[in-house]
Amino acid sequence: MKWDEFAGWGARISEWARGYHQGLRQRPVRAQVAPGEILAQLPVAPPQSAEPMERVFADFENIVLPGITHWQHPRFFAYFPANATPPSMLADYLATVIAPQCMLWQTSPAATEMETRMLQWLRQSLGLADHFEGVIQDSASTATLAAVLTMRERALGWQGNEKGLAGLDTLRIYCSAEVHTSVDRAIWISGIGQDNLCRVPTHGPLRAMQPEALEAAIQADIAKGLKPAGIVACVGGTGTGGCDDVSAVCDIAAKYGLYVHVDAAWAGAAMICPEFRHLWQGVDKADSVVFNPHKWLGMQFDCSAHFVKNPDDLVRTLAIKPEYLKTHGHDGIINYSEWSVPLGRRFRALKIWFVLRIYGLEGLQAMIRNHVAWAEELHGLLAAEPEFEIVTAPVLSLFTFRYAPAGAGDLDALNQRLVDAINDDGRIYLTQTRTMGALVLRFQAGQVDATREDLLLAFEVIKEIAATLR
Ligand code: PLP
Repeated sequence: MKWDEFAGWGARISEWARGYHQGLRQRPVRAQVAPGEILAQLPVAPPQSAEPMERVFADFENIVLPGITHWQHPRFFAYFPANATPPSMLADYLATVIAPQCMLWQTSPAATEMETRMLQWLRQSLGLADHFEGVIQDSASTATLAAVLTMRERALGWQGNEKGLAGLDTLRIYCSAEVHTSVDRAIWISGIGQDNLCRVPTHGPLRAMQPEALEAAIQADIAKGLKPAGIVACVGGTGTGGCDDVSAVCDIAAKYGLYVHVDAAWAGAAMICPEFRHLWQGVDKADSVVFNPHKWLGMQFDCSAHFVKNPDDLVRTLAIKPEYLKTHGHDGIINYSEWSVPLGRRFRALKIWFVLRIYGLEGLQAMIRNHVAWAEELHGLLAAEPEFEIVTAPVLSLFTFRYAPAGAGDLDALNQRLVDAINDDGRIYLTQTRTMGALVLRFQAGQVDATREDLLLAFEVIKEIAATLR
């Protein structure tokens, strides 16, 4: 493709993007295709000769688009959001155009120094103590893996990487059942093993780990000759938004010399509003914290902010320096690839810079406060309906509910039918989860373009479709 043609297509795609976003309310939120339908339209072999861009773009519209679930749809109320704001897209476009590899300071000093400053901006925005230093990971799963590997190495006196785990102490990690499965995967990948992930029972309206049960589990493990290594606390768990008492967890950890990692992948964004910070009270005592600007702050995937109290421990766990990566003569510089699992790194800090400058903290705070207020309003409307039950009250903008008309019989089956029917209808998109043994519908508000009217429409759609199932 010649550069002149590229420029024409760039302008055309920008215009297409405007129309796409402005017209999203006319599209079903969840893709309405059957499995295999897209695959069947893609030729089994690659083209031998060049094709015109016009034809490629037409196929994008006709083949690809029907198979897209529209995460930027204002009535996307499923999972957690994965927002892309216009300034974030523009920044990512620029980063894509320059396409630097940002693994070392010298492979793009601006990317490294921008990353340092942007993580300082985010740290201040969340009200975190200034002893935290930050790095951008591709995902919260990677940050949690890095934290679990650091727990492992610290607890093993930095021998795990060298010797492998055979013959060394059996490590134990603690968390509740509310954490995301990225914790389980980190335990598998680190070689610690699922059997050594100890699930601590929870209590209270926020489904927090019971501090006495946590401490009793640690003591029981020590008595058995096992080695406690760390705790993963969650703030805003995936299913229902469960939050541990981070302060109590950190105090127990300090007594036994354990590492604490806080997973606030979704809820962390809300901490830009001081009134929500009680949800992670004590967080400054933790060893590391992760949150995803790519969820609720409008900086599109991938952009996960990982804060650590002691970067030396992280670097000691992950850094490897073959001769070709040494950057002689630059003492004191940061090579962020030493803080993460992959070597290659995209220029992700640019979109943080663009988004924070274009909206300002006030703009982002207003968005989050609206989402929380509207979700509470919808929660109130559903709570007032006799045939609906609120199962878990709102944590920020997430709550769960179920349809429970009198004499309905198998409520799990009925609610699965309800969520499927809602998503087949397409006007809104919800997902289900299981809590306290019941299948329930999750509702979260978090899409940047959502309005109060979109949430009120969600209420009507839920009621209308539920009535057809009776
Ligand atoms: N932690 C929590 C609480 C989550 O909800 C999620 C995903 O939704 C993750 C971690 C994993 O996030 P990522 O996709 O960035 O790995």
